[in-house]
Amino acid sequence: MRAPWLWVLNGAMKVLVVEDEEKIASFVQRGLEEAGFRVEVRRDGDAGYDAARGEPWDVIVLDIMLPGRDGLSILENLRAQRNPVPVILLTARSELDERLAGLDLGADDYLTKPFFVAELIARIKAIGRRLSRDQLSLVEVGPLTLNLLTRRASVGEEEVELTAREFALLEYLCRSPGRVLTRTQIYEQVWDYDFDPRTNLVDVYVARLRKKLGAAARLIETVRGVGYRMKQA
Ligand code: CA
Repeated sequence: MRAPWLWVLNGAMKVLVVEDEEKIASFVQRGLEEAGFRVEVRRDGDAGYDAARGEPWDVIVLDIMLPGRDGLSILENLRAQRNPVPVILLTARSELDERLAGLDLGADDYLTKPFFVAELIARIKAIGRRLSRDQLSLVEVGPLTLNLLTRRASVGEEEVELTAREFALLEYLCRSPGRVLTRTQIYEQVWDYDFDPRTNLVDVYVARLRKKLGAAARLIETVRGVGYRMKQA
């Protein structure tokens, strides 16, 4: 699957709109498409939740009151699954408690109905600018990209599923390409323990990483008797 945070680098932002009121859904869709966004609409909470989980989005515009699963429960579930997708809530004027609950649950922004599409577009663009700034937190070695904020890794455009420890190991290697890192250095940096010469943890983790990195595995070189080195790509 294409890494969601790479969308922004590659053209139009992809927006999911979950809104049951037909009039609002269609004016939002039309407005966003005219502004150059790629838009999909879902008209109830269950379809919205499936779509939200089913593929990467740059932004989800999420109504709170929906048939089926409501917006707050969709948001809560996405965050429980560590899905960091930016969410803008659409709320009725009377829904102050829901709005506050939504921000607590990790919504990025909200708009109170009725609103102008221009206002929604401005909010989405602000999120896009923030995402671009986040890309300054990218570490790249050859086809490998690490996003230090989302703690996600990709090879080319393919996202690689790593555990937190695997990511930390890869990050340490990628931060010093060309430099030989001893097992002791790696162990103490990534595991934060004093080195135990009996452990082969470092070798086990490097082997796991290589397996997951596929074609990019060749970037991690073994320096016999010493440790490892990230190739300078
Ligand atoms: Ca509604």
